[in-house]
Amino acid sequence: PAPVLAIVGRPNVGKSTLVNRILGRREAVVEDVPGVTRDRVRYGAEWGGRPLTLVDTGGWDIDVRGMSSRIAGQAEIAVSQSDAVLLVVDVTTGVTSTDEHVVRMLRRAGKPVILTANKVDDERGEIQAAELWALGLGEPRTVSAMHGRGVADLLDVIMETL
Ligand code: GDP
Ligand code: MG
Repeated sequence: PAPVLAIVGRPNVGKSTLVNRILGRREAVVEDVPGVTRDRVRYGAEWGGRPLTLVDTGGWDIDVRGMSSRIAGQAEIAVSQSDAVLLVVDVTTGVTSTDEHVVRMLRRAGKPVILTANKVDDERGEIQAAELWALGLGEPRTVSAMHGRGVADLLDVIMETL
């Protein structure tokens, strides 16, 4: 079976936009409203002739009780069923306490993690992304899911990791 990549991160960081970019079509639902992807959604993709399964998740928002904690539960299940995890962070908002909470959960899960800095639409974002080294997850891979910048390089890293 194809290796499975779980895509996690706070709501609105661009997880579904990145999934669509990788798929080359608009299939994952993208919204300006946080928390639109409520469950785990699986997509078949391929890169360099090799298949992979992408799992888009609703992400974490520990500031809100109720439904959001259920969404976080879905993301934890996605991680537990994955071969590797893509943690997406939004460089325009920077690291939040929720991101740090997610990093702790990922350490406990023990899966390989690829740190992705999204919304790096231009050179300025590269400088902001350097702050993400502080998360202790290695090199932040910079992309603009919206414009496609850096996504091919990211996919190379993903396939090496899976
Ligand atoms: P998700 O909740 O993490 O799945 O985030 P979405 O994919 O739904 O995107 C949330 C918002 O961020 C939408 O308005 C997207 O258009 C926007 N967005 C996503 N990727 C980028 C990017 O690379 N650059 C910019 N500027 N905006 C982005
Ligand atoms: Mg989404």
